[in-house]
Amino acid sequence: MTSGVGDEPFIEFLERHPLTWERLLNVLPDGVAFIDDGGIIRHANAVLTTLTGYELDDLVGRSVEDIVPVAARKNHEHLRHRFVEEARFRTMGRHLNLSLVRRDGSELAVDIALAPIVLGGRPWIITLIRDDSAERSASRARDEIEQRFRLAFEENMAPMAFTDLDDRCLAVNDAFCAMLGRSRAELLDCDSSLFTHPEDLGITESVHQRLITGEVERVRYIKRYVKSDGRVIVAEISKSTARDEGGGILYFVNSERDITEELELADQLAHQALHDPLTGLANRALFDDRLVQAFERVDRYGGFGAVLLIDLDDFKGINDTRGHITGDELLSAVAGRMHSVTRSSDTLCRFGGDEFLYLAEGMSGPGEVDQVASRILGAFDEPFAIAGTFLEQRASIGVVVFDAGRVDRATLVRDADVALYEAKREGKNRHVVFTPSMHQQAASHFELARELRQAMGAGELAMHYQPIVDLSTLSVVGFEALMRWRHPVRGAVAPSVFIPLAEESGLIVELGAFALREAIATAATWAPRGPYLTVNLSARQFHDPDLVSTIEHELKTSGLAPGRLVIEVTESATMLDVAETLEVIDRLAHHGIGIALDDFGTGFSSLHYLTLVKPRIIKIDQSFVSPTHGDQRTMTLLETIVTLGQKLDITVVAEGIETDEQLEHLRDLGCDLGQGFLFSPAVTAIEVPALVTRNFAR
Ligand code: C2E
Ligand code: MG
Ligand code: MG
Repeated sequence: MTSGVGDEPFIEFLERHPLTWERLLNVLPDGVAFIDDGGIIRHANAVLTTLTGYELDDLVGRSVEDIVPVAARKNHEHLRHRFVEEARFRTMGRHLNLSLVRRDGSELAVDIALAPIVLGGRPWIITLIRDDSAERSASRARDEIEQRFRLAFEENMAPMAFTDLDDRCLAVNDAFCAMLGRSRAELLDCDSSLFTHPEDLGITESVHQRLITGEVERVRYIKRYVKSDGRVIVAEISKSTARDEGGGILYFVNSERDITEELELADQLAHQALHDPLTGLANRALFDDRLVQAFERVDRYGGFGAVLLIDLDDFKGINDTRGHITGDELLSAVAGRMHSVTRSSDTLCRFGGDEFLYLAEGMSGPGEVDQVASRILGAFDEPFAIAGTFLEQRASIGVVVFDAGRVDRATLVRDADVALYEAKREGKNRHVVFTPSMHQQAASHFELARELRQAMGAGELAMHYQPIVDLSTLSVVGFEALMRWRHPVRGAVAPSVFIPLAEESGLIVELGAFALREAIATAATWAPRGPYLTVNLSARQFHDPDLVSTIEHELKTSGLAPGRLVIEVTESATMLDVAETLEVIDRLAHHGIGIALDDFGTGFSSLHYLTLVKPRIIKIDQSFVSPTHGDQRTMTLLETIVTLGQKLDITVVAEGIETDEQLEHLRDLGCDLGQGFLFSPAVTAIEVPALVTRNFAR
């Protein structure tokens, strides 16, 4: 059936009803223009007037080229003629990016279709013009999104991969390739199991299953990869599902992060938090943790454990005389030695300074701790090679044994400290196991140290002077300054008690300065050519870099001639560091100040050493002067020391002369000088002048 209205063919119907044409034109969504063979717009619909901005009157009669963009105008006429020659319907297409020029000069994106028509016997063109601007900007937006996405993926610093439902790589970015040390070609289409660490295949698969089944939409997990060079890295992965509109799974997006270094750093930090930086041993925090566990174990399984507090003997001396760098080196070496004898079930920790803690576990009896302590002390047997020399270093150990019955962890270290003090008091280089009775002793010790600190300010300390007598004339030639502490409650406290206390607590530097100041000021009041003065110095003071300038200062302010001052030090104090000792002695000698080696014969110095130090005086220890039961060997030694002094031109002073017999014997030997209760104990400064004028001959 042919189209038509009733019996009338459709076209003829239209020709008879022009308004129908018009209506048809105006319901079309597109602009329509009728252009004659001269390129003039002869008719247009309402849509086109809206698109162009021209009134219909203004549009009709214009050349079509008026609404063609300037750039295309020149060619347009030619194209128009060509179209007429090969007249057929044709769409121009979006890809041509056509536009028309509106009345206000602006351009509008359009798509155009052309149809030839013969009107009045002449070839016209019907032009359909569609506003394409919305569609075109939408497509531009789509392009932009796509580009942005590509950039975000390709250029992303985070390694990214798209994987398919079989977990094969659909796309990977550069960062992903770099992370795995593999090229894109090696990775694409490749199952991730090929570069996943074998032990992490399980988690990879289970994550994949949870996403495939839709149990979750996104999973974060950590797994290890094996790089092409075999190195293992750890990656944190966020894997999520991309779905189409219907909810079907398209692919998975994997965004990853190489956290290998981060983990290493975290490990390092954790190690640092629990270890001592100098020695690498466990620190206090880790030790406490192990101690808690040890207590739990003895509680549950029985047996014994022990805490050993190890303190290096006289380590302060090393630090003071050789400096902290050597001190640190020695500490590390000591730690290394002790570590090498630490059982794997035990814990060794640096407690601070030169103190270490050792936690022994799994002992079947309390007596076993003796073996542990011996093993640790044995680690100190060989000298330590530090900074080009060999250093002797020993240690003392305080031990506390615990079992299920003992639950007070807090007092453990305190008790070990008490036992340690006892070990030091008994002569160092040993271990002592804590017993509750030690507490009382320790308490009074700490109390005394505290009181000594206040004693100086409270005027409880004073210097007393013991005459040194010429044994041939029995006249007084000098005085030894000896410190006295009169405690308001305890009465006189012996120097043999409080001097070691001061040395331990570091108070000795202050006490020593006090002794020098007092004694030098007192001696300065004696007659100008009167007796000389000897002042005792501890090892710590003798190696004090300020020593010489302090003495110099006191001599200057008091006016005492330097030649009248002698410094008394023990052999062991001068043996701490020979080179430094000689330098100090040189500097003192340069000022005219002499050295006396105190308690001579009780130390270990060699004769060669004596010729190096060249003391002005040696003081023979009391034990040689008054030997118990007149021991023959000791008598011989006394004789030898006196002869030695004579041969080396060193003045010999005998200490502790108590009897006439001793005096006679020493005079027979030809000993130069002597001190002792036979003549006088140490007296106060006021009593000195009376002694100077006194002759002890009777
Ligand atoms: P030291 O230097 O060997 O002093 C000699 C000690 O022997 C003194 O003891 C003295 O009182 C004592 N003594 C003297 N004659 C006799 C005697 O005939 N028989 C007996 N049994 N003892 C006698 P003191 O005063 O108790 O001093 C003990 C030690 O304390 C001193 O030994 C010295 O090493 C140290 N000391 C004393 N005062 C000071 C000081 O101001 N500074 C330093 N660093 N140490 C000091
Ligand atoms: Mg002395
Ligand atoms: Mg002495």
